[in-house]
Amino acid sequence: MSLRRLLELNRELVRPEAHESLDLAERIWIARGSPEDPEELAEALEVVLQRCVNRGINYAPILLKRKKQLESGQWKPRTGDPPAHAVPGTPASASMPGACPHCNGSGWYQHGGMGHLCPCRAWLSWGKTVPVGKKVLA
Ligand SMILES: [Zn+2]
Repeated sequence: MSLRRLLELNRELVRPEAHESLDLAERIWIARGSPEDPEELAEALEVVLQRCVNRGINYAPILLKRKKQLESGQWKPRTGDPPAHAVPGTPASASMPGACPHCNGSGWYQHGGMGHLCPCRAWLSWGKTVPVGKKVLA
């Protein structure tokens, strides 16, 4: 991860005279521990902008824009993969947590072309009804 990627900066859209500010931003961001938290990122950008002003460096307008967006919550860096629970409808959330890996909680599984009752005894929840055509594993 680089700051440029984190901020979704396109270097080609930044005027050449402002490229130095991007390099400076990258260095400052790394020196501050490569923060990805919006608040810390906004602080890092504030330092970058101040340093640019102090040194008479033309800073890329996108740096100021991102800082304002971070502070107002209009934009957030997309960091890594979202947590699994934040993605609805994934296969992982479809199966029951802690379900038997053998039968996936259904109580029976296919083996050698035949259906078998699973040793996990999930089939106990079927009550007295055993599906037709499924052989009981001795
Ligand atoms: Zn099972």
